[in-house]
Amino acid sequence: MEQQQHHQVLVIGGGTAGITVAAILRRRAPDVGVTLVEPSEQHYYQPAFTLVGAGVYPLAKTRRPEASLIPAGVRWVRGAAASFEPDANTVVLQDGQRLRYEHLVVCTGVKLDWNKIEGLADTLGRNGVCSNYSPETVSYTWECVQGLGEGDKVVCTQAPMPFKCPGAPQKIAYLIADRLRRRGILESCSVDFHTHAPAIFGVPYFARALDDVAAGYGMGVHVQQQLVAVDGPSRTATFEYVDEARKGQRHTVPFDLLHVSPPQSPPQVIKDSPLANAGGWVEVDQHTLRHVRHDNVYALGDVASTPNSKTAAAVRKQAPVVVEGILAALAGKPGTRVYDGYASCPLTTSLNRAILAEFIYGGKVTPTLPLKPSKQRWINWWIKLTGLPLMYWHYMLKGHVRFPAHDTEYSEAA
Ligand SMILES: Cc1cc2nc3c(=O)[nH]c(=O)nc-3n(C[C@H](O)[C@H](O)[C@H](O)COP(=O)(O)OP(=O)(O)OC[C@H]3O[C@@H](n4cnc5c(N)ncnc54)[C@H](O)[C@@H]3O)c2cc1C
Repeated sequence: MEQQQHHQVLVIGGGTAGITVAAILRRRAPDVGVTLVEPSEQHYYQPAFTLVGAGVYPLAKTRRPEASLIPAGVRWVRGAAASFEPDANTVVLQDGQRLRYEHLVVCTGVKLDWNKIEGLADTLGRNGVCSNYSPETVSYTWECVQGLGEGDKVVCTQAPMPFKCPGAPQKIAYLIADRLRRRGILESCSVDFHTHAPAIFGVPYFARALDDVAAGYGMGVHVQQQLVAVDGPSRTATFEYVDEARKGQRHTVPFDLLHVSPPQSPPQVIKDSPLANAGGWVEVDQHTLRHVRHDNVYALGDVASTPNSKTAAAVRKQAPVVVEGILAALAGKPGTRVYDGYASCPLTTSLNRAILAEFIYGGKVTPTLPLKPSKQRWINWWIKLTGLPLMYWHYMLKGHVRFPAHDTEYSEAA
């Protein structure tokens, strides 16, 4: 017999966004019942995968048991959503449970589409083909980096937008290049970055600085082309141009190490749901994060339709907005807090320096520190390696919401 259960706030997905929202809710309103649906027993701090792939961070430090992160008082349903019935305020789980809710928060993250690249799934994890994008594949990146020698060819790829962490595909290229430089073999090797985008980075202010970083390593930057096929045994990668002049034309390059950032899309359960927009993402207002057709539904994190960069940093700023909206609705008032599109990307430009790119909607540069943001700094490296992981586990996932302001748009003349 089908079970029907009632939940005051139902959170679907217990990754970065789900745990953060649940934790803030428990702090702000301990009387509000929160249920979280998450199938996985393990939770990963994905931003450190870049460091794992470069051999400067152990994979084990990125992983914690999901049970240890569920905030006290939150009910964890270990399962996965199979369909959404927003007109009936109901989510159906894969095991047939029907969960009724007053308020729904959707944060299922994205799906990695390895199969969209011909030959990739067959060779990933072998033949020098690696990716920092999954805990299953990231350790092999470091294995490949260690195996590089004189004259080897490194090829790093960036998928079409949207995908999580817009800097991750190029961060690993810089870290590999710095490893080769420290071993004294960079000059004999080649490091190439191929991106679907028209520029190295979406925010022009940082793109200029990153072009210089790439040039400093002698790195080839190839824009407007996407990886379409990989032949592992013959170690070749095929790219297709996406610009008007060369659209559809293909070219093939050899590699000794191929780092792939896979195409990404919303999970099928979201695409198939009435919550999705034409692209399959949960269709919410980009400021309130409230669904455009269903007032009691919110989405945040990677699965939301908002046009920000998909990062944990964005979640940090989105989660208090969602909680505020829900608590206001429970009190019968309109929500007042809005999300400004904040995202942050510590671009690891070497093994001891990073550029801390922080920006909001419209590509406006909004640094937290009173320092020129385009400069590679050791302090930013420390923030990436030590500060942000500490902040993630002990502050953000514990539901604390006070963070330094980033309200002022940066101007070089200032
Ligand atoms: C290599 C890499 C580098 C990155 N670097 C950075 C960085 O430097 N800075 C930064 O801020 N961000 C970075 N990120 C991005 C950051 O990790 C994500 O943006 C963030 O984790 C998004 O949180 P989320 O909760 O939306 O998704 P996730 O944390 O991925 O969580 C989604 C959860 O939903 C669950 N789920 C899926 N389907 C269902 C279902 N049907 N029912 C229930 N639950 C479901 C999943 O099991 C998962 O636990 C990086 C990511 C990667 C991969």
